[in-house]
Amino acid sequence: MKNYKYNELAYAELIYNKGFQTKHVPTELRLLALYYRDVLGYKPKEREEKIYKFCKNNIPNFKKEKFFKPINKALRVASDKKQKFIIIKKIDIFKTELDYINNLDIQYEYKKVMFAFLVQIKLNKIVCEYKYDKEYNSIYFKGGTKKYNNIKKMANIPVKMSINDEVINKLEELKLITILFKGAILLDYINNCIQSEDIVFTITDFENVRLYLDYYNKVKGVKKCDGSCGVIIKIKNNKQKYCNECAEKINIQKTIDNRKNKTV
Ligand SMILES: [Zn+2]
Repeated sequence: MKNYKYNELAYAELIYNKGFQTKHVPTELRLLALYYRDVLGYKPKEREEKIYKFCKNNIPNFKKEKFFKPINKALRVASDKKQKFIIIKKIDIFKTELDYINNLDIQYEYKKVMFAFLVQIKLNKIVCEYKYDKEYNSIYFKGGTKKYNNIKKMANIPVKMSINDEVINKLEELKLITILFKGAILLDYINNCIQSEDIVFTITDFENVRLYLDYYNKVKGVKKCDGSCGVIIKIKNNKQKYCNECAEKINIQKTIDNRKNKTV
């Protein structure tokens, strides 16, 4: 499944059209309730009716007693005006931030991890400021297997390279970070990543973050999609011009145009 963490509206739409997508039913019910409110404009009573109907249609052997709690919670969330969809379309990376990481005298794989953390901290900042409506400037990374695996995926370092035993320890040795407890760390170096005027690129694909660093460093086989999306891609051969999504759109358009030409 595509990562919808930073585009909850698209995720909600998918749930509405195709039913539950994961086992995280409470989360998905919350998004569905917000979708009823913000997209379809349903009033509270109608939201309640629709959400029960949806559950009956989409949960085998649905029993009200069993889902009463998460449904009520989702409806309560939708009644709270402060609750909104999280939608992050882009993250700006400044030349000074990138140059700081890029110019460090360390292995390239470590730079990819540092860059992934920088993007993650920027995402956290947007989410927190959106949710709590006050400025957020933390360099704290909570840790946990899932969060570290996510960073590893964003950075795309070799599978056999241990992010905790190798990368994190090395970065602490270099005094770039501080290890706290239970995998939590302070990303001290982020304070050296100063924002300037000069945006070097805008990240829209939060999963393949390291490609942006590769593109900046002119790594072979990495280029910007020729379509309108501006996403950085790893090409399979020299002829490839577009990312999968743009290629698909262009193919569909070509088919439509061909048909039109035939009928004229
Ligand atoms: Zn594209």
